[in-house]
Amino acid sequence: MSAAQAMTPEEVKAAADRIAAAGDSRPRLARDPVNWPTIRTWLEAIGGAAGTVADADTVLADTVPADTVPADTVPADTVPADTVPAETAPPAMIQVWTMPGLHGSRESDDPLGAMMALMNEAGYPAVIATNCDQTYLREVRVGEQLAVSARLLEVTGPKRTALGEGWFVTTRSTWTANGEPVATMDFRVLKYRPARGERSAAPAAQPVMRSMISADTAFFWEGTAAGELRVQACERCGARRHPPGPRCPACGAMATGSYVVAAGTGEVYSYVVHHHPPVPGKKLPIVIALVELPEGVRMTGELLGVAPERVRIGLPVRADFTRIDDDLALPAWRAGAQATLPPRVIDVTPTFVVASALATRDYQDVHHDRDRAIASGAKDIFLNILTTTGLVQQYVTAWAGPGQSVKAISIRLGAPCQAGDTLTLTGEVTSAVGTAAEGTAEDSERVIAVTGRCGLGDHVTATVRLADSRIPGGPEGGKG
Ligand code: ZN
Repeated sequence: MSAAQAMTPEEVKAAADRIAAAGDSRPRLARDPVNWPTIRTWLEAIGGAAGTVADADTVLADTVPADTVPADTVPADTVPADTVPAETAPPAMIQVWTMPGLHGSRESDDPLGAMMALMNEAGYPAVIATNCDQTYLREVRVGEQLAVSARLLEVTGPKRTALGEGWFVTTRSTWTANGEPVATMDFRVLKYRPARGERSAAPAAQPVMRSMISADTAFFWEGTAAGELRVQACERCGARRHPPGPRCPACGAMATGSYVVAAGTGEVYSYVVHHHPPVPGKKLPIVIALVELPEGVRMTGELLGVAPERVRIGLPVRADFTRIDDDLALPAWRAGAQATLPPRVIDVTPTFVVASALATRDYQDVHHDRDRAIASGAKDIFLNILTTTGLVQQYVTAWAGPGQSVKAISIRLGAPCQAGDTLTLTGEVTSAVGTAAEGTAEDSERVIAVTGRCGLGDHVTATVRLADSRIPGGPEGGKG
């Protein structure tokens, strides 16, 4: 191979296509079957509702099987689900089982390894994980032997990011037990060339709809970029209006740039489901809502995270912002909160960072060796992704209680959470849940939005999908 030399985007894409065309890597067996000692170590490190070892022991005292009948042979329709001994691993442990271990190495057909090598050659040496989306197809039982394979799912770029120009690389891992898929994970990293202060001239590869920004509307877009929803307010008579205009329709005064910051709440006043024509950067259909704000104006925006059939007039929503780049953030809406989870505050001690990294079988030095972490640009050792995923899952399951199973966790990673910091998890149930009035399986699903904040900002924003795992028609299921 020749000396490091930048490849053209076309060459990078062609090489990525070849890696993607290879499909799934050969299944790699977990070192051990799913087992209690590893689960116990994980529970001790990651913690439960209060994050204490005592809590984990209490949970285990009720659930460690001695000579219990395997769950499979218990007639599920005669035994309340929450009295059946839990013999399943926490779902967020899925990746733990197939971690390579202290002396492990990447398989030769691992697509992420191949992509990292390609990106290094193309001149993008730095890497940061951005997203981790796990979907649990069924629970994994103690004793099961898992295997994992991975393939390259998507490569997009080059993109201009705050860190520098780079490419987003997404791989999909699939875990199987006896050939049956039990979970998947889409893992996305940004492979980038660190910016040296100057702005990259590379255009955004994926076009988005950009709004016309004029002198009249500049304050609004400056607001969205700052995470604020600003409503124009007449300086003379106080009348509020949206969209912004040069003259007050109530008293005729010229706009002076005055505005109020909206609370960021509202209700769906009207909406359309957009199926066609295509919208750059969007997967259709999308919901466009006209939202009535308590400030007295109506505003349009995309309604995110709510399926078209679940939208209704009057649905409570809250403002959200989709950041496109440094300069542009688009306002959007999400279903409003139905309930709030009590916060969990975690004292991120060095012991916590090290214990949780090792309990997730992650031996990367930046999670236990302070000198190596500092050499990598951090101030101290920091939490690993498997721990963050585990914390989000435990936070939600401890609140939800038995009988609720986690179907998926979708994680967006932000600032690192370093030893000495405090991580505060907060969560809210969004109304994307449905009403549960019909009692169908789909309607019993709940969506929890979780944020984990540390000193440097948002460490993680996550969405957790929960479903009632009690069997319909059982003793508590009712007959609808
Ligand atoms: Zn006025």
